[in-house]
Amino acid sequence: MSIRKIKTLKIGPVKYKMLHVDIPAEGDKTFLGRIYYDKAEIHVAKSMVEQPAMFTIVHEFFHGLCHLYGIGKHTENQIDALSLGVIEFIQNNPQLVKTIQELK
Ligand SMILES: [Zn+2]
Repeated sequence: MSIRKIKTLKIGPVKYKMLHVDIPAEGDKTFLGRIYYDKAEIHVAKSMVEQPAMFTIVHEFFHGLCHLYGIGKHTENQIDALSLGVIEFIQNNPQLVKTIQELK
């Protein structure tokens, strides 16, 4: 399935709307993804191809998770490490992932 066909991302009880858009720069910062807690939206730069877009979505997921569970202080490097770790976990352990889904 194309990553662009995924329209929502559930983080805990919150359903975030996913939008593939041009993300405006803020000052000298440019962004590949942004999460907006107040309006429950995740914006992903539409210029990205599948793999970086997938990584960006997982990255924003971890920001949302930290926000939801009150993990206030975290760095972008920590979020990147968690994102890479969970992507590798899912890709390297398909049977365990399937079992986790079935036990839900
Ligand atoms: Zn980030």
